[in-house]
Amino acid sequence: MHPDGRFMETSSGNYMTSSTTIQAIANAFERWAPIGLAESYDNPGLQVGHADRSVSKGLVALDMTPQVLDEAVSSGCHLVVTHHPLIFTPLKTITANSYVSNLALRLAESGIALYSAHTNLDSVRGGVSFALAAQLGLTNVDFLMHKDDALVKLVTFVPTASSESVRGALTDAGAGQIGQYSGCSFESRGTGHFTPATEAKPAVGSAGGPPEQVDEVRLETEVAKWNLATVISAMKDAHPYEEVPYDIYPVRQPYKNAGLGAIGTLEEPVGLEAFLTTVSQTLENSALRYTGDLDQMIRRVAVCGGSGSKFVGAAQAAGADAYITADISYHTFFNVLNTDGIPEIALIDPGHYESERITEVLMLDFLKTEFPDVEWLRTTTRTAPVKTFNAPG
Ligand SMILES: [Zn+2]
Repeated sequence: MHPDGRFMETSSGNYMTSSTTIQAIANAFERWAPIGLAESYDNPGLQVGHADRSVSKGLVALDMTPQVLDEAVSSGCHLVVTHHPLIFTPLKTITANSYVSNLALRLAESGIALYSAHTNLDSVRGGVSFALAAQLGLTNVDFLMHKDDALVKLVTFVPTASSESVRGALTDAGAGQIGQYSGCSFESRGTGHFTPATEAKPAVGSAGGPPEQVDEVRLETEVAKWNLATVISAMKDAHPYEEVPYDIYPVRQPYKNAGLGAIGTLEEPVGLEAFLTTVSQTLENSALRYTGDLDQMIRRVAVCGGSGSKFVGAAQAAGADAYITADISYHTFFNVLNTDGIPEIALIDPGHYESERITEVLMLDFLKTEFPDVEWLRTTTRTAPVKTFNAPG
C-alpha cells in the first residue's frame, strides 16, 4: 500500500503501489517541453483523466487509436502518452458516435488517462526533429529555424545588497537562457530616487519621507514570453521593495532555445540515390515521394518531423542539399524548380507517420529515465491510417 493509501490493480489482478502521479508526469514533460512553446492551434497536455491518479504502467504511441486503447486495456496501463492530441476541437458530446468522442468515452470508462506532447515537443532542442536528424545519422544538428517573437527583455532596479538574491531568483525561474548558457544577465550600478508616502512600507527609508537615494543595480535579462509570469512572480518574491520597479521591452532576436525543424550534416556526402535508399530503409517506407537529381551530392540535410512543407524556403536559405518533411503538396514540389525546371534542393516526403515514429522512442526514453519505477511500453501497432501499396512483382 502506498503511503497515501492508493491501490492500483494490474491486468493480472495483482495490486501494486506507485507514487508517480499523472500530474508528476505532466510536470516533467512540461519542464522539458513547456506548453507555452506549442503552436496557437495546438492542444497539448492532459486530455483525459484525473491528474492526481497514480500510474504504475504506461503506454507510448504516436497516435491514439482504438487499437492502442485495446492494448492499454489488455496490458493494464493507467496512462497513454501520445504525440498527436486526440482532442483538438471542443467536443459537443461524449458519445460513441464519432471516432474522437468514442475514444474519449472509452478512455474515461476504462479509467485510462491520455496525455499528449505535440508542437511543444516539436519546438525544444532535442525534440522531434532532432530525434529524426539523429535517426538519419546527421551530426552538428541545430534548429532549422529559431522561434521569432518569443523573447522579452526584463529590467529591474534592485538595491545593490539584494542584487545577488534577485538575480538568483530570476535564474532559478528560467530567465537568461541563451543557447548553451544559463543565468545570462547584465547589471550596471546607479542611484535610485524615491519618496515614500505616509501609507508606504518602504524597505529603505521611512513612511512619509524624506526623499531617499539608494545605491541600486539595473539588472537585465532575457525571458521567454511563455515564462514571463513565472519569472516576474519569482522576481517580486525575491525583491525587497514594496513596489518592485521593472520594465519589459520587446526583443527582436530569435530565441535560441526553441525552434522548429533541424539541420545537420552527413559524416560523408552521398549521392541522392544512395541517400534516398538510406531514408527509405531507416524510416521504413519503400515508396518515398521526392524531387531532385539522383546524381546530386547530399551533405547538408534539413528535416522537420510531420507537416513541415511551409519551411522549404528556410531549408533552402540554410543551404540544405535536401529537406525531409511530410505532407508536401504537388505545388510545393514545383516551388523548388529553377527556371530550367531543375530542383534547387532535393525535397523528400517519407510520410507523416514515418517522419515522426521516432517520437515514440524519444518519449519512451524520457519517461524511462524520469520515472524508472513506472513500467513503460511502446505500442506494437502502426497507428497511421495511411498505407503505401506496392504492387506485386
Ligand atoms: Zn505529426
